Amino acid sequence: MVYRYTLILWATFLMCPGYTIGQTDLEVPADIVFKNARVIEGTGSIYTQAVVVIRDGHILSISEDPYMEADGSLWRSDWQAGSYGLNMPWEVAQSYEQDMELDDLEASGDSSKRPHMVIDLAGMTLMPGIIDTHVHLVDSISDTVNGSAYDPSMSNVARKLNAYLDHGVTTIKSMGDPLDEIIRIRDSVRSGKLNGPRILTVGPMLTISGTGESTAAAIYRQRSQPKVGTSEAIASPDDAIQTVRHLAWKGVDAIHVDLCESSSSMPMLVESVYSREILSAIVDQAHREGLTISAYTVEEPIALMAISLGFDGLEHGVTRSWLSDTRLERSLGMQNVGYAPALGVYARLMPESMQAARENLDNLAKENAVRIVLGSDTFGLAEPGLNTIQELRMMVQAGMTPARAVQAATYDAAQHVGISDETGSIQVGKRADLIILEQDPFEDISALFDITMVVKYGVIVTDNRESGTRPNMR
Ligand SMILES: [Zn+2]
Repeated sequence: MVYRYTLILWATFLMCPGYTIGQTDLEVPADIVFKNARVIEGTGSIYTQAVVVIRDGHILSISEDPYMEADGSLWRSDWQAGSYGLNMPWEVAQSYEQDMELDDLEASGDSSKRPHMVIDLAGMTLMPGIIDTHVHLVDSISDTVNGSAYDPSMSNVARKLNAYLDHGVTTIKSMGDPLDEIIRIRDSVRSGKLNGPRILTVGPMLTISGTGESTAAAIYRQRSQPKVGTSEAIASPDDAIQTVRHLAWKGVDAIHVDLCESSSSMPMLVESVYSREILSAIVDQAHREGLTISAYTVEEPIALMAISLGFDGLEHGVTRSWLSDTRLERSLGMQNVGYAPALGVYARLMPESMQAARENLDNLAKENAVRIVLGSDTFGLAEPGLNTIQELRMMVQAGMTPARAVQAATYDAAQHVGISDETGSIQVGKRADLIILEQDPFEDISALFDITMVVKYGVIVTDNRESGTRPNMR
C-alpha cells in the first residue's frame, strides 16, 4: 500500500503544473531514471525499451513499449499490472520522461526541483544484479596465501567484497565461515560501514559425526590449513535441534549441511537410519526457524536422499558419476529444489569429475521444471566476482542457453535462497539491485565480463561510463 500511495502522489505531482515536492522536502535522495533501456526482467521476459524509475532503494516503476512476453509475443498496455499491480501508466511515464529531459541529463542543482538524475541507456541492457548462492568469504586458504597464519583482519575480506560488487554480484550466500565473524561482516555491510554485496550467512557447515571426512575438510587438510570454526559435526537428533536453534538465534540466514562424503563412507550415510534421523532433525528445525537449508552432494543416492528429506537446494549436485536415470530430474522439479552445479571448482581442482558434472547439468537443464541456479563455490585462489561470471559462462558452455543462465543467476537464484520477494528481478517494489551492460547477455553471456554500471539497493556503486575502465576481464 505504501507504493500505491507514493504512486498516486507522484501522479498528482505530474498532473498539477507548478507543484513541486522539492520545495517541501529537500532531503529526499535523488531518484534515478533510466530511459531507453532494454530490460531483462530476470523471470524470462524482456522490455525492448523501457523507463525504469528508482526511488529510495526500490524500483518505483517500469513503463515499456512494447512489452515482450516470455513466449516472444509483443503487446502494449497503458496499465501493465506487474506482480505488485503498481506499474506506472505509460502516459504518466512518458510525461515524466519529457519533464526530465527539460532539466538536462544531469542531477538538477536547482533546489526547486525534486532531485533526480536521468541516465540514457540507449543500446544498453539493464538486468538484475547477480546472486551467487555459493561462496566462501572468510576463507583460510586465500586469507593466508601470503602468510602462514590465519589473518582475521578485514582487509582481505573488504577487497573481496569490492571485487564482487565490481563484477555485478549484488548478493552472495557465504558458507563455512566462523559464525561470529561472518555475522559481524554481514552486519557491517548492512549498516553501510563496509562496502559490498548483500551477504546471506550460513556460519559453519554441518556434518554428520562418524560418516567420514567430507571433501571440503579433505581439501583443507591437504593444504595443511587449519580452518577453525567453519564446520560442526552433529552427533544426534537432539544435538541437531540445539545446534540449528543456536545458529538461528545468532542470526544466520540459512543452514548448510556437507554431505560430500568420500566414496567409501557414502553407503554408511545413505543406509544408516540414525544418520537419516539426524538429517531429518536438522531439516525440520531449519524450517521451523524459517530458514532455507541446502546440502553439498556429489553422489546420486545422496542427492536423492537429501531431496526426499526436504532440503531446499543442492550444491554441486551429482558430479562423481553420470545420472543413472531421470529420478533426480523428476524429484528436483516436483519439490522445487534448486541445483547449483559449481562447475568451476572441478575445472580447477577435480578435472576427473568435470565431464560428468557438465553432462549432468546439461541433462537437467533440458527440463524446464528444474531450477538451475548459480553458485560458483569461490574460495582459495579463485578471484571473487570474476570467478562468478566465469562459472556462468561454463554453465552456458555445458549446454544452457544464455537466457536460462541469466535467470539462474538472478530470479531463480533469489528463489533458491528465499529472497525472491525482495530482489532478483526488475519488478516494481523490488530492491533496485541491478547492472547495466554494453552488450546483450542473451546474445553472448560474455557480455557480463564488461559491466558498465552496478546499482545496489538504489545506489550506484560502480560506474565505468566516464573512466572507460572495467573490472578485470575474463
Ligand atoms: Zn563450497
